[in-house]
Amino acid sequence: MSVKIQSIRGMHDVLPDQSGLWQYFENIIRNTVQSYGYREIRMPVLESTDLFCRSIGEVTDIVEKEMYTFADRNGDSLTLRPEGTASCVRAGIQHGLLHNQQQRLWYMGPMFRHERPQKGRYRQFHQIGVETFGIDGPDIDAELILMTARFWKSLGLTNVHLELNTLGSNEARALYRGVLVDYLSQHENHLDEESKRRLTTNPLRILDSKNPDLQEIIEAAPKLMDYLDDESRQHFEQLKVILHAAGIDFRVNTRLVRGLDYYCKTVFEWVTDELGAQGTVCAGGRYDGLVSQLGGKPTTAAGFAMGVERLLSLIENTTLQLNNGIDIFMLLQGDKAQIQGLILAEQIRTECSNIKIQVNCGGGSFKSQMKKADKSGAKLALILGEDEIIHDSVAIKHLRSESEQKLIRQDELSKVLSELL
Ligand code: ATP
Ligand code: MG
Repeated sequence: MSVKIQSIRGMHDVLPDQSGLWQYFENIIRNTVQSYGYREIRMPVLESTDLFCRSIGEVTDIVEKEMYTFADRNGDSLTLRPEGTASCVRAGIQHGLLHNQQQRLWYMGPMFRHERPQKGRYRQFHQIGVETFGIDGPDIDAELILMTARFWKSLGLTNVHLELNTLGSNEARALYRGVLVDYLSQHENHLDEESKRRLTTNPLRILDSKNPDLQEIIEAAPKLMDYLDDESRQHFEQLKVILHAAGIDFRVNTRLVRGLDYYCKTVFEWVTDELGAQGTVCAGGRYDGLVSQLGGKPTTAAGFAMGVERLLSLIENTTLQLNNGIDIFMLLQGDKAQIQGLILAEQIRTECSNIKIQVNCGGGSFKSQMKKADKSGAKLALILGEDEIIHDSVAIKHLRSESEQKLIRQDELSKVLSELL
């Protein structure tokens, strides 16, 4: 007996009943990013493994344990992208989009991480990312945040709030790292295994720990905010001034460090309490060092990525009414109608570009076709039988209201339909 083939654990089909919601979401995002003058870039889902090791950082969760990495037939090590920023920077360097210019880019698509699947955490998930290059002030950080706030407004999401922090310059962070390691080493006996390991590899990430036993130690730890360089401090102050002026609420969270190595200065997350532990729906910040780290000329950069599945489950909690159905279902009776119906439907599609019409295919009794019409959700049924064909006409029936069936001349059909729909 053969075993049923199933999708890979943590990788999901988007079924036709759900794809309307995805399209609705993607349209709002696309219109919004375009309204700020951002242009789309599309990158491959496979990249050299090196790209992610050199950008995200060797001792991060992603690179240590979440990547889908394999040797291809040539023996080259390839990785299914776990995020988009590294690929976007790689493409920007490769095609000369970054040096001595400003870029505002966005992308969307699947990302891959080998994590433990649960609600809001999948092995193939989708991100929409926005990246800017060559603009070093807090004005662009603010623009990115204003854009995200506009997304939530357009999507009708109110229960998301902004957390903000600054990581300072690389030098300031290195200085602070030393101070933090000194402090945490004094409490080493109370750290959990993960944190002990991170003490030497990635100590800032300990601040991010969700372990309740560590909260007291973390709370009392020295604050990066107190070790900031002047430039980062001013950058952060100015960002807060702009956000205040624009009426964006936020909370400064000094423990927000982000899981990826490449961030500096501004970092931010939009968080909701509606999704349990998977509450971060959008995360980003500044990554001034990444372009040169990947071999490009030094170029400042800032961006963010949002988790599409998490945002969609928030939208599902709102009272959104989507209309993805068809407008018209066409019933056909008799051999002639089978041909002429298809042609008439073509004519309607040509003349009324907004109307969605589905033609009954595969025959069937009038009754069974009527059942399909009803189930389709269409507002109108068009009926084409032998009588109608003889008179160059077609019958219109309202499916969602009580009104009489009417005969219309075929050459007047498009006009009548445009008025009705
Ligand atoms: P988390 O702390 O939830 O693991 P992260 O810091 O690893 O998130 P990022 O790399 O910053 O996440 O990715 C940006 C966004 O992408 C996240 O805020 C989240 O909304 C989404 N995301 C990340 N990993 C997953 C996943 N495995 N499944 C679904 N969405 C995800
Ligand atoms: Mg993660």
